[in-house]
Amino acid sequence: MARTHNLGFPRIGARRQLKFALESYWRGQDSAEQLQQVAAAVRAENRRLQAPLDLQPVGDFSLYDHVLDTSVMLGHVPQRFVGNGFNQLDRYFRMARGRAVEGDAPVAAGEMTKWFNTNYHYIVPEFTAETRFSLNTWSLCAQIDEAHAAGIKAKAVILGPLSYLWVGKAVDGSERLDHLDALIAVYAQLLAELRRKGVDWVQIDEPALTLDLPPTWRQAYQRGYEALHGVGPRSLLTTYFGPLDDNLKWVLDLPVDGFHIDASDGIAQLDTILARLHETQVLSLGVVDGRNVWASDLNALLDVLEPVDAALGERLWLAPSCSLLHVPVDLSAERALDPELFSWLAFAVQKLDELTLLAQALKHGREHVAEPLLINRRAIQSRRDSTRTHNPSVREQIGHITPDWQQRRSPYAVRAQRQAQRFALPAFPTTTIGSFPQTQDIRAARRDYRAGALDDAQYRQAMQREIAHCLSVQHELGLDVLVHGEAERNDMVEYFGELLDGFAFSRQGWVQSYGSRCVKPPILYGDVQRPAAMTVQWARYAQSLSDKPVKGMLTGPVTLLNWSFVRDDQPRSETCLQIALAIREEVQDLAAASIHMIQIDEAALREGLPLRQRDWPAYLDWAIAAFRLAANGVDDDIQIHTHMCYSEFNDIIDDIARMDADVITIETSRSHMQLLDAFQDFEYPNAIGPGVYDIHSPNVPDTQSIVELMRKAATRIPPERLWVNPDCGLKTRSWSEVKPALANMVEAARRLRQAA
Ligand code: GLN
Ligand code: ZN
Repeated sequence: MARTHNLGFPRIGARRQLKFALESYWRGQDSAEQLQQVAAAVRAENRRLQAPLDLQPVGDFSLYDHVLDTSVMLGHVPQRFVGNGFNQLDRYFRMARGRAVEGDAPVAAGEMTKWFNTNYHYIVPEFTAETRFSLNTWSLCAQIDEAHAAGIKAKAVILGPLSYLWVGKAVDGSERLDHLDALIAVYAQLLAELRRKGVDWVQIDEPALTLDLPPTWRQAYQRGYEALHGVGPRSLLTTYFGPLDDNLKWVLDLPVDGFHIDASDGIAQLDTILARLHETQVLSLGVVDGRNVWASDLNALLDVLEPVDAALGERLWLAPSCSLLHVPVDLSAERALDPELFSWLAFAVQKLDELTLLAQALKHGREHVAEPLLINRRAIQSRRDSTRTHNPSVREQIGHITPDWQQRRSPYAVRAQRQAQRFALPAFPTTTIGSFPQTQDIRAARRDYRAGALDDAQYRQAMQREIAHCLSVQHELGLDVLVHGEAERNDMVEYFGELLDGFAFSRQGWVQSYGSRCVKPPILYGDVQRPAAMTVQWARYAQSLSDKPVKGMLTGPVTLLNWSFVRDDQPRSETCLQIALAIREEVQDLAAASIHMIQIDEAALREGLPLRQRDWPAYLDWAIAAFRLAANGVDDDIQIHTHMCYSEFNDIIDDIARMDADVITIETSRSHMQLLDAFQDFEYPNAIGPGVYDIHSPNVPDTQSIVELMRKAATRIPPERLWVNPDCGLKTRSWSEVKPALANMVEAARRLRQAA
């Protein structure tokens, strides 16, 4: 009789209540009590939504980030946040975001980085040789008490000690594993305390177990878990974001009371697991995909689960593959979605329903839940057979692709010459990454247009006014290569998704990205096709206002893919190819409309790297092929640009080179051009614009600092191949910040030319 449980529930609230409460507290409008009330209400609602489960997670809630909560619980607070008279709550927000409420003296916030290969960002624990721990379980215990008071049997959720160490960073160059013994000692106290509180089960999250682990870390796992053996409640060692693969054989020897494995992609090595599982140990199978939005094929799952259930009975637990943090809360809020598509989807609440249904079918037989199983079967079938997922014309087009489509006509050197003739740019050409400030006026115009208050002509006029303004500012500043400013886009993925077939948008499908920040990823459900040109009218209008080149601006196929919920009924590579074909058509239309420079942003290319290194080459192969297909269908004298929002390049620099963009702009200023180390051993063949100032900060860079950064760059890259540009788009900045910053950048380029 399988039992159902959940690893974690979205904590931002179905209507983003927590987001609004946090932001209002940070603005100084709401009191701490008001914030805590909203938080308690979200937890109560989450308990209600999870009521059908046999075991609920407790301690998965967080006001900002669960890794930061772990740091606070372990008393692991960097020195700069200690003292200063801040209370616990405000110290917590200072660690998260550098200040608690507006007006506080700011302090450098903790670094934020991506949680494995998800789009969630956590606050990185900072280890130094001086790091000490001291346990503070107040917040976790309060959540447990709250659950107990609500009559709920709590399964406590904690981040495991080794994954905690793994996701942290030794900021002084010391060795993280040096803290293992001290850390295990506090975890032992923590587990003992949970046992004293009457908690029966603790879920210990160790997602790092799905990664390539060096042997020292493997030994650390063994030593750590040996030491924790028998101290706490019964322990469920919880792994997710992939199968255990080669780690499985030794993980099964760790002395715990059960294992949770990610089975969203099938149950790998099931026979080994069943053979080695001790008769007192539990096996939790994460059969429902916890990080995508598709309804499970329940009948197929039952085929797999029935024999396991027969073998394990109560020792079989069913769960989502990972915390449901990564999906929206409730599909039933989506009344505007097309009914057929609706039937294919499952958000957090629906995923829990799936678990309950599976458990009932296992307990009482499938005939007991025949009707919901039939409905599920129909949905799965309609998804398989629908022309939205299998559009013959898209399939036919894909069939026409030949390898030469990925190839420019001539090598870079030849193209560079022809482009130099066409554009006659000065040395160190200046440009920007695409977007300019998104003012209130711009947002209001877009909103009114959506609401029907502006008609097509009025909206076009409003956007053209913005474009004209943006171009006149760039002329005044004296930039060499211009952009139209992206006023018509609220988001670089959503804009294209809405114009392409195959993408759908939810109304309330919010997912936490970090802290109070949420994103609403498009749902890429079907075959992708471009019904009409998407950007040509704006680009053409902008170019009509200038004799200087204006870059056409597109989002690349890999980024459109990586920032969406992607269909799981075909390989991602195939879906990416379809998007690439649509973008290729747009590139060709732009070129035909005399847009001679075209930038294809691949902001998220690196993010898509698989967790396991051995899977990198395959990903990079299809991702780069998709970019090349999108970019390379034009003549030699069309200049293709690309942009990337990060600077960790060293490990993929030759793949970046394989993209063969004529110009690449990248983020580098915060790392003081450290990126250029990658160019020490690798000669990047094409032109490159290393970002010279950080657009995330309101600070205006001074001319001299830009000159110095560029001189540094020129020691590694031939100056004739260098461009001068900011790190990223300027849409989050105000005009009053942008104008002086770009004026200094243009002046820096002028000095560089003079000195050359
Ligand atoms: N062209 C986009 C912009 O300028 C690029 C944004 C990004 O790289 N994230 O906003
Ligand atoms: Zn960027």
